[in-house]
Amino acid sequence: MKLIMKTGSLLLLSACFLMTCTTSPLNRRQMVIYSEAEMTQQGEQTYRQMQQQLPISTDTRETRYIQCVTDYVVAALEPVERGNYVWEVTVFDDEQANAFALPGGKIGIYNGLLDIAVTPPQLASVIAHEVGHVLANHSNERASQAALRNVGLAAAQILGASSSAIEAIDVGSRYGIFLPFNRTQEIEADTIGVMLMARAGFDPEASITLWQNMVVTAGPSPPQLLSTHPSPASRMSELRQLMEPAVAIRNSANSRGINPDCVAPGNNLQF
Ligand SMILES: [Zn+2]
Repeated sequence: MKLIMKTGSLLLLSACFLMTCTTSPLNRRQMVIYSEAEMTQQGEQTYRQMQQQLPISTDTRETRYIQCVTDYVVAALEPVERGNYVWEVTVFDDEQANAFALPGGKIGIYNGLLDIAVTPPQLASVIAHEVGHVLANHSNERASQAALRNVGLAAAQILGASSSAIEAIDVGSRYGIFLPFNRTQEIEADTIGVMLMARAGFDPEASITLWQNMVVTAGPSPPQLLSTHPSPASRMSELRQLMEPAVAIRNSANSRGINPDCVAPGNNLQF
């Protein structure tokens, strides 16, 4: 076992030479092994498959509304953030309250989310959070970590480690674009997201009320977003700490004429 660990760490050390050391938008050090082009291609491919396999909403009011909120969020991106991606959103006809954004700017909204994100700013906070994951390159980080764990797994197999040892290394090593984000990544996406929605002119307080809605709606079967993300209570307290600067950013956006006018289906209120 000692030998395995030693060889494993040597392999990890040599793998470090293959990795690129980058920093997230919040200056956290990240190690990634895939190029931006590879991740963009992977995101695009996964997105097209989902569009073919999952039912897409045919409700034009709903689709127009979600597109409107997405457009405001994307318009608030700095050119360097927007990159060369073709940002797009697809509304899937699915009752689960969930959303995602894949590398390359491919956003997916399950229309069940509208039962929880009931106002445009609440929807904007979900979209901006998911965009935050893309801006911080979290999928690359996640896929890179999974690939490195596979290197350790392969080394253990070569060295004839016991099946329980291999199992231990293998936990969570499944490669995939939908591996859950970790707590650090979630807080980072919340931070980036709340500032982004504020820049887009939406009231950042809605990021907190969204989580209150989640808790109320959760009941015995929590929404998908809740089950893969950290506890709402800790997130709400982290978000509260960001409110003062976020509100100032939103006020500044509003005074520059950025006033989102998206109309939620089912009411004629504008937020
Ligand atoms: Zn997230």
